[in-house]
Parts: sequence; structure tokens; C-alpha cells
Amino acid sequence: MLENLFRPLYRTTARAFRRARALTSRKVELIDLDAWNNATANYRFVQRLTTEENRRLRLISSDFLARKVIMGAAGFEITELMRLQIAAQACILILELDVDFYDGWREIIVYPGQFAKTHDVIDEFGVVHTTRDPLAGEAWLDGPVVLSHADLAQTADAVDRGDGYNVVIHEFAHKLDMLNGEANGYPPLHRGMSKETWKRTFLAAYLAFCKQVDEADALARRDGGKALDAILIDPYAAQSPAEFFAVISEVFFEMPEDVHETFPAVYQQLKAFYKQDPLARQ
Ligand SMILES: [Zn+2]
Repeated sequence: MLENLFRPLYRTTARAFRRARALTSRKVELIDLDAWNNATANYRFVQRLTTEENRRLRLISSDFLARKVIMGAAGFEITELMRLQIAAQACILILELDVDFYDGWREIIVYPGQFAKTHDVIDEFGVVHTTRDPLAGEAWLDGPVVLSHADLAQTADAVDRGDGYNVVIHEFAHKLDMLNGEANGYPPLHRGMSKETWKRTFLAAYLAFCKQVDEADALARRDGGKALDAILIDPYAAQSPAEFFAVISEVFFEMPEDVHETFPAVYQQLKAFYKQDPLARQ
């Protein structure tokens, strides 16, 4: 269906007008409302949206699906439900941005479960070991996003979903981060945002978080991992500034109060970057 409802989405600047025309000429098929509601009802970030925001997310997701190819790997079959769920989660990040933030690549590859990545690790004796780490998702610079369906299904399950865990939001946050090169936790900022403030805020939060994780880790043998469990944000975020940005983005949309409580200054930066205030939606 040609979607003329797209029109109110874009502001009346010349650029937005050209975009709206390009959209309608590409014949975007509008996602059916019932199918959309059925696919997305369990997501916390969707439950927080107003009717108008939900409608816009459906429109942007329709456009996203027209631009991307979602394919199964290892014989895995992609259903319409999966397509809608991937689109909704990917597009919540760009609800107030532009769908062209995801331009420059086309494929989303879905494995039935976590997939192994082989890589070499050099130990303290200089010996190279080849290890295979199971991954829930992966985002390639200028390449595809790779996802594990087992993890997608878990996030879509109202009972099984982890607190703030969302592999699609995570990988698409990496994609935004990669708009200015390798993922490093510093995506291109909007006009009016300060690079210095972003860097200072994120570095301070990242270092504080690493310290918190190290301390909890050191206690783990004695307290059975209680201190680690008490950390509101997935300790995986301590891996690197890039992972910190991706993980904190998941929590920002899924459990915004946790980001606000732990790192209020980071919350303000994310609010400016995503142009959304999920906390105000409750
Ligand atoms: Zn990551």
C-alpha cells in the first residue's frame, strides 16, 4: 500500500519534503495494525509509547523493512512476526531521528541460536589460542547486523525477558556509533550537543562502572555473586566504551529508570542523542 500517512512524519523543510517524496515513490508497504500490535505488545519500550508515537514507530518500521533484507542463516526460516519484531526494536532508536541513520548497508542475518565467532587470543607466553565465543548479536562496520533468534525470542517473551536486555537495540546502537567509524562509544552528535560533555560524561561513567564491576567480581567468591547481581546494568558493559554505549542504550529504552538512577548525566546525554525521554513516558 502506498503510504501517504508518512507525510506528517517529516517536517516541512525542503530536505524533509524530498525525503517524503522519495518514500512514497519507493512504495512502502504499511505494516498491518493487528500484526504490528501482536508482534510488539510485549516490549517494554513499546508499552511506554503514546498512541501517536506507536503509530510513528509502525510507519518508520514499515520504511525500514522496505530498505532492509532480513535473511535466515543455517537454514533458519524468517517469519513475518520476526521481521516486525526486528524492525520495531531497531527503529525505536531512530523514532526521533531519521531512517537514513541506517543507510549504507542492507542485510540482517538471523541464526537460530547464538553463533560462534572464531578468534585468536595470545596468552602471556606468546602462544596463540583459537577460541570460539558464542554471540547473541554482531554489527559489522558498513556490513550486516547478525542476530540470534533464541535471544530475540527471549526478549519478546513477557515472562522470560531479562531486565533491560535487548540484543537488537544493542546491535543497532553499535550501528549508530559506527556512523563515524569503528564503534568506540562516540557516535556523531547532533548540532547543539557538546562533544566534550559527551566524552567527559561517558568516560567518567564507564570508569566508575568498571570499578564497580571489578569490586563486585572480587567479592563474588565470598558473596556468591550477590554484589554482581545487584548491579543494575549488565557487567558486559565494562568490556569497552563501545559496549558501554550499546548496553546503556538497551537499558535507556527498556528500563530508563535504571540509567537515570545509576548515571543521571549519561541519561541526559542519551536523551539529547536519541531525542527521546523514555522516563517521561511512564
Ligand atoms: Zn556489543
